[in-house]
Order: sequence, then structure tokens, then C-alpha cells
Amino acid sequence: MRVGINGYGWFRRVIFAACVLLFGNANSFAQNTLLGDTKSAQTVVVRAGRLFDPVTGRMLDRPVIVIVGNKINSVSNRNPSSIAGATLIDLGDATLLPGFIDVHTHLTSDAGGGGYESLGISSPRAALIGAKNARLTLLAGFTAVRNVGAEGYSDVALRDAINAGDVIGPRMQVSGPPLGITGGHCDNSLLPFEFHHSAEGVADGPEAVMHRVREVIKYGADVVKFCASGGVFSKGDNPLLEQYSPEEMKVLVEESHRLGRKVATHAHSAVSIKDAVRAGVDSIEHGIFLDDEGIALMKEHNTFLVPTSYPLFWFEEHAPQMHLPPWVMEKSAIIIPAAKKNMATAFRAGVRVALGTDAGVYPHGQNGGEFWSMVELGLTPTQALQSGTVNAAELMGWTDRIGAIREGTFADMVAVKGDPLSDIRLLEHVQFVMKDGVVYKNEISGPSATAQPR
Ligand SMILES: [Zn+2]
Repeated sequence: MRVGINGYGWFRRVIFAACVLLFGNANSFAQNTLLGDTKSAQTVVVRAGRLFDPVTGRMLDRPVIVIVGNKINSVSNRNPSSIAGATLIDLGDATLLPGFIDVHTHLTSDAGGGGYESLGISSPRAALIGAKNARLTLLAGFTAVRNVGAEGYSDVALRDAINAGDVIGPRMQVSGPPLGITGGHCDNSLLPFEFHHSAEGVADGPEAVMHRVREVIKYGADVVKFCASGGVFSKGDNPLLEQYSPEEMKVLVEESHRLGRKVATHAHSAVSIKDAVRAGVDSIEHGIFLDDEGIALMKEHNTFLVPTSYPLFWFEEHAPQMHLPPWVMEKSAIIIPAAKKNMATAFRAGVRVALGTDAGVYPHGQNGGEFWSMVELGLTPTQALQSGTVNAAELMGWTDRIGAIREGTFADMVAVKGDPLSDIRLLEHVQFVMKDGVVYKNEISGPSATAQPR
């Protein structure tokens, strides 16, 4: 994390105090605006019917979570009578879960924006689109995301604005512009030659690739994203073909790792997946044409698969009304059935999965649909939940701070009424969201009260 989580706490408190002066009752303001109180030393006790522990895959009955400031102080099933003056949030019989994590989002763009209209969106406008979508994502229960690919470093601006408390949204790791070859999926080939337009992440040859890795890190990338194969929303390239050479991929990954950054790889074709895994990437995103050899390699190298399943289902239903360019429709007709079949095979084979949704291909805030989509393709509900909590945290290198509700992690949690292990679709609409100890949504118990013994 580049900016300390609480680095701007004093600023938020001043703003909060000013708002109280302007609008009166502090509690009603907090509830109405979803900004919440930010007193750093405040103690909050959360009680619920069950707690999902993604580490063991088990449910804990009648959990009592004590939060001090923005961190979890204790998790038990003892009543909190000794904590005088704490604020109580009683979620009744609801199921409490760690805040969800989506490792593949595009917060700075909206669904349907991949064609020529996208050329009219400036980077400042993209950052503001991101502010809107960051809020939707957080309220959907996703308290941390990776944003993998944004022009003009609009994702860096968004991350920093969230960390500063200027806008609400999930914790973010961002990539800045994704690296790719001239004319590839991560270039922009919409305009003819006389405009001499290339996307910012384009780099050809090992030396240029190394320079570009250093450049995106210089301007704020926490993670490096690159395109190893063609894709769907790009004109004139082929998802079945490799783009970067094995040599270029090797330099890219080595330099990223040397500078302390993980590498996320857009890869559709079987060859591109295998070459990227051999080069040492940390995650294969999409992995559409993953074959048995690729599966074996991913298991050998401990590479995460980020299956982006929900858009496969969403796209089938909604694409016909979206007036998308013809090349998008032609490619998706090949991609979608192959992806469903090959993801199911990979799940059966036990490839490690981290939840990622490609949010921005479908409307933001529906990220929870990825849970049932992965279950539809063969994961158990427990495995799907683990992929969106502990596994995603591991891929982000943040196991010590997010992904499970345990002592010392950030107080990021969500709750749903009912049992999501019996009905995975419950995760499409969470009723409670807390990030950093601040409540952003509570449709279960409403305003909080002072803690009392159970
Ligand atoms: Zn994507």
C-alpha cells in the first residue's frame, strides 16, 4: 500500500466534524451518506449467527468480533460484556464473511465502451467513471480489488483518492496501462495509420519491455499487467494466437519481480498460457483455451487462474442488445463455449483459482455473480468463496491484512441473511458492508447501539 490506510485520518475527521456542524446529528449524517464515523480508536463489536472462515472452509457459530479502530482485535464466541462503551452491531442470524476480493476489474470504464466511443473518453473522465464504479463495487461487498489496465494512470488517481478518503471504494492494487505488442490486444487499433496512435503500454522487444515495466512502476503501478495473446474487445487481433514472444515475457516477468511487483497476464491461446506460466507469471487471466499440458504447468508453477466466468453468462444474455462491433460478436461466439468447457476442466483438475470478474465488461456492482458462475462450472460453494477471499488475498500478497476475519487483519467484512453455502446466489446481494471498521451498508440492523452482553 503506497499511502498508509490511516494516513489521512485527521483530514477525514476534520471533514466529518465540519459536516456535523453543517448538518447537525452526526449519526443520521453517517447513516445517510454511508461515509460513517472514522474515529480511529473506536471499539466496535459485531455479532452474527455464523461466520465463514475461508482458511478452514467451516462455519463458526455465534461469532463475536471485536474491532478496534480499523483492525480486528479478536474473534470468538464469547459475549463482549467486558467491553464498556463499545458500539454494538448485532446482525442477528446473518452470515458474516470476509470482505470479498476481485482481482480482475476495470473500474475506470463502463460496459459497452470498447468501440469507437471509447476514443472520446479522457483520462480525467475515466478517473471519475472509476469513482462512481468504486462505490458500486464496495457496496456489492468487494472491499479489495486489483484494477488491471487503465490508460492515463486514471486507476492510480482513483486508488490514491480512495486511500485519501476523497471517494469511497475498495482497497486497490492497480497496474496503470497494460503492456502489449504493437497491434495487440493491449494496443488500440481503432484509428487508421495517419493518426499514429498507440496505447500507452505498447512495447516491442525485450529492451523496450524492460523500460515499460520500469515506467509503469515509476508512475504508480502496484502490479504489472500484460497481454500474452489476442482478445475479444480488440480490433484486428486473434485470441487464438500468441502475441509477446517467450523471450519478451521472460524479461517482463523478471524485471517486474525484481522490482517487487506481481504479474497478471491476459492469456487466451493455449501457447500463450504455457509460455507465460514458464516465464513465471503470478496469474493467468481468462485462460480460455487452457489445455491439459497448460493445467499441469500451472499446477507445477503454483500459478493462479483467474477465470472471469460471470461475463461469459452475462454476455450471452445481454450482448445482442449492446450494439457491439461485429468483431466482438464473432470472437465471443468462439470464446464463450470454449471458456466454459475449459474452466470446468481446470476446476476438476484442481488448478488454484482467484476470483476475478472483468468488471467493466458487464455493469459494475454485479461482481457477486462470479460466485454462482464458478459453481455452475464446477467449484463447490466453499471453493468459490475461498477463491474470492483467502486465495485472492494470497495472489495480491496481502494475506496478512485481508481475506479472512482474524486477529490483526483489517476490519473488512460483509454479511448476508441466510446460508450462502446452501444458496450461493445470496452473495449477489450482501446486506452489510464494513471496510476499515467503517460501516458502508447495513440493511440488517440499521443504526448501531452501545454494546451489551448477549
Ligand atoms: Zn480484463
